[in-house]
Amino acid sequence: MKINIVESNLERIVIVGGGFAGLMLAKKLAKANYQIVLLDKNNYHQFQPLFYQVAMAGLEPSSIAFPLRKFFQGNRNVFIRVTEVTAIEPENKRLQTPLGIVNYDHLVIATGADTNFFGNAALAAKALPMKSVSEALYLRNRILDDYEKTLSITDMEERQGYIDIVIVGGGPTGVEIAGSLAEMRKYILPKDYPEMNCEEIEIILIQSGDQLLKGMSDEAAKKALEFLQKLDVKVILNNRVTSYDGEIVTMKDGTTIRSRKVIWAAGIHGAIFKGFPADAIGPGNRLKIDHNCRVLGLENVYALGDVALMSGDEKFPEGHPQVAQVAMQMGKYLADAFIRKQKGKPVGTFAYRDLGSMATIGRNKAVVDLPWFSFQGFFAWLVWLFVHLFQLLGVRNKVMVFINWLWNYITYDQSLRLMIRPHVPPKEEKSE
Ligand SMILES: Cc1cc2nc3c(=O)[nH]c(=O)nc-3n(C[C@H](O)[C@H](O)[C@H](O)COP(=O)(O)OP(=O)(O)OC[C@H]3O[C@@H](n4cnc5c(N)ncnc54)[C@H](O)[C@@H]3O)c2cc1C
Repeated sequence: MKINIVESNLERIVIVGGGFAGLMLAKKLAKANYQIVLLDKNNYHQFQPLFYQVAMAGLEPSSIAFPLRKFFQGNRNVFIRVTEVTAIEPENKRLQTPLGIVNYDHLVIATGADTNFFGNAALAAKALPMKSVSEALYLRNRILDDYEKTLSITDMEERQGYIDIVIVGGGPTGVEIAGSLAEMRKYILPKDYPEMNCEEIEIILIQSGDQLLKGMSDEAAKKALEFLQKLDVKVILNNRVTSYDGEIVTMKDGTTIRSRKVIWAAGIHGAIFKGFPADAIGPGNRLKIDHNCRVLGLENVYALGDVALMSGDEKFPEGHPQVAQVAMQMGKYLADAFIRKQKGKPVGTFAYRDLGSMATIGRNKAVVDLPWFSFQGFFAWLVWLFVHLFQLLGVRNKVMVFINWLWNYITYDQSLRLMIRPHVPPKEEKSE
């Protein structure tokens, strides 16, 4: 059965994924001479860089998510369907989804990345990932729930397992979570839980390499470590987690840590679905693309953003970093290429303009690497705030996030510590 989308005489571009890349592409093509079909498993765009603030009860999920339909209000050429693509049939130029078959003239895969547990099923079952708003919310509930439970636990060892938190992965996400948790321990928990000795809470960050923030400058890595240590985060370098059973974390050197919460920020891999030829799939489960963003070996199929792997760039020969700027620039490039092609104009190749990278480690503390220089501390933190606020979609979201940040900054408090769990209706009892 075909999905119900009006057939038009315009060429149809199907975009899978309304993240940074897909949304940019759809936005730039919304008024072009193509029929745009945007498929996403969610009805909203998510701003992943601020997930950790949702998890740490600093922001509401609605402040960092934006409804796709609102974004394209009034665009008659854009057709949105909320569904998960399960397979591609390149020979028939169509996709499979639970809603039905979707035909394409041109197909753009912008599905981003999923958490990579490196095939470790035990870790996948017990560690807490943070790749979606729902996972960030789940983490927020777990943290708050465990502190509530702690108050009733008398066994010291068991109690320690509830209050300590392990974060695996010393990239920007791991560093930002660790800094944020350390501030929560310092400023918020002592006020909320006067019965608890919050100094007993250990926050442990484990990084397999010999420095944090791999890919950023040495100064940024050193400063991030210094900031975290000042906040009393225990940073373990050159070690990796090999297993976790929900209670005990075991590391490569045999050391163990007791913790009921292991936050997994240690790796991602391309979020692809069935049907791609093996030759098109590269390291990290990413789709290999040429310098025009075309998936190798497939006709009229493109890939953008985290899921795409373009080799041979002068600065990034092994592929671009999986960050929002790459995704957005690829989206812009491809939109321009489609428009130029239709007008019979020549199309150049994609060139990434590296605008730098940054991470925040808490109040007044951040590290920023620009292409020409690096800086850290208060000014870097202001830059981090401004850039993230500017990139958020929607005026309402910008205002809400700004007010929240201002309030948190002035009061040293966050006001969103509610444990809201989804309602599960009771099962109907079978009559005899
Ligand atoms: C916690 C965290 C913090 C980050 N912090 C930063 C940061 O500070 N700076 C930075 O530059 N980058 C950061 N990143 C990385 C950045 O978010 C990604 O590089 C960016 O989102 C990639 O954009 P994308 O469009 O490729 O994919 P995404 O933005 O992930 O979008 C993919 C979309 O595809 C949809 N989708 C996936 N599979 C399917 C399917 N089968 N069918 C239908 N829809 C599907 C998803 O629902 C999603 O909407 C962070 C990432 C995370 C997880």
